[in-house]
Amino acid sequence: MSTTQCEQQTEQTPFTVVRARVEEVVRISPSFIRVTFAGDELRGAGNPHRTLDQRIKLIFPPASGQLPRLADDADWYAAWLAVPEESRGSMRTYSIRDLRVGDDGETRLVVDFVLHLEPGATGPASLWASAARVGDELLVVAPRRGRLDGGGIEFAPGDAASMLLAGDETAAPAIARILEELPSDARGIAFIEVPLREDRLAIDAPSGFEVRWLPRGGALHGASLIPEVLAHLGEHGRGAIRPDDRGGDAGPVTAEIGVEQLLWETPQYSGSGEAIEAGPDHHERYYWIAGESGVVTTLRRHLVRELGIARSQVAFMGYWRRGVAMKG
Ligand SMILES: Cc1cc2nc3c(=O)[nH]c(=O)nc-3n(C[C@H](O)[C@H](O)[C@H](O)COP(=O)(O)OP(=O)(O)OC[C@H]3O[C@@H](n4cnc5c(N)ncnc54)[C@H](O)[C@@H]3O)c2cc1C
Repeated sequence: MSTTQCEQQTEQTPFTVVRARVEEVVRISPSFIRVTFAGDELRGAGNPHRTLDQRIKLIFPPASGQLPRLADDADWYAAWLAVPEESRGSMRTYSIRDLRVGDDGETRLVVDFVLHLEPGATGPASLWASAARVGDELLVVAPRRGRLDGGGIEFAPGDAASMLLAGDETAAPAIARILEELPSDARGIAFIEVPLREDRLAIDAPSGFEVRWLPRGGALHGASLIPEVLAHLGEHGRGAIRPDDRGGDAGPVTAEIGVEQLLWETPQYSGSGEAIEAGPDHHERYYWIAGESGVVTTLRRHLVRELGIARSQVAFMGYWRRGVAMKG
């Protein structure tokens, strides 16, 4: 490799900002729309087979339909914020349901969008997905291909003998990707709460993994997930679940927050600044829990405070919060 190539490589940021074009839109169930993106710039985005719960940012076009022009460098976020609000579009966080790379490097990025379209409880991402057509474009901020140093993957089971994954429909794509990338001898259980029975999707999970879909059929977010997870852990009926802790119908949007303000407590990082015991001891079991922030907070309280599960064994992640629009 020449000196110039070397210099270019060291200057590159671990994330890349690329334009992607909708190639296919499939309504895979009542609550999910699967969008497949293609485009030359995607060749440099994402790491196939090392995706797990990798988060990406999607920038949806503003009303004009014109996407902002952003340089592919470390200043992309500042540059995006500097664009006048009416031309900036909206940014939201999503998971990679699939990343398919052909022999020639041609790349397909698949994202499963949850449709939440009730008046007063919808947002630009869900609205965009509900109207997406072949040829539509958006911007994707994803790991630069070959770079694993940018973060954004939280799933880290270490040497745990078994795993428990739990989440609502927004976490379903990440859980599915994790299960499809785990070694075939991985063991554990996944609880996935979805709006309806018809939202149970195909996942190619290892044979030693039980996948339990929990349709909540009109009940509040967490109504199925919380009791099922607690019952599985042997905490039958202990510690009543406060209705306030559940997600429920989002209701009118009352605030706007950034993802950094959501509950985020992992073995490596505590959003609240809580001390984490040194050295993750995953020998027994690793827990990965994501979804509506209030629901995840309730599960956290039960697991850590009442069941005494070590913080270093669990990743608790708020993926959205009812009544609150995300800023990115
Ligand atoms: C790491 C990470 C990965 C994620 N992966 C995915 C993914 O793969 N697929 C996916 O669909 N989502 C995913 N999400 C969640 C997604 O970012 C949020 O749901 C986001 O709020 C959607 O943006 P929006 O513009 O549709 O709504 P916003 O403008 O952010 O919110 C508007 C209103 O909609 C409500 N709302 C937001 N999401 C939901 C929902 N799911 N159900 C009911 N009401 C809701 C809000 O409470 C608010 O009242 C992920 C989030 C994170 C942090």
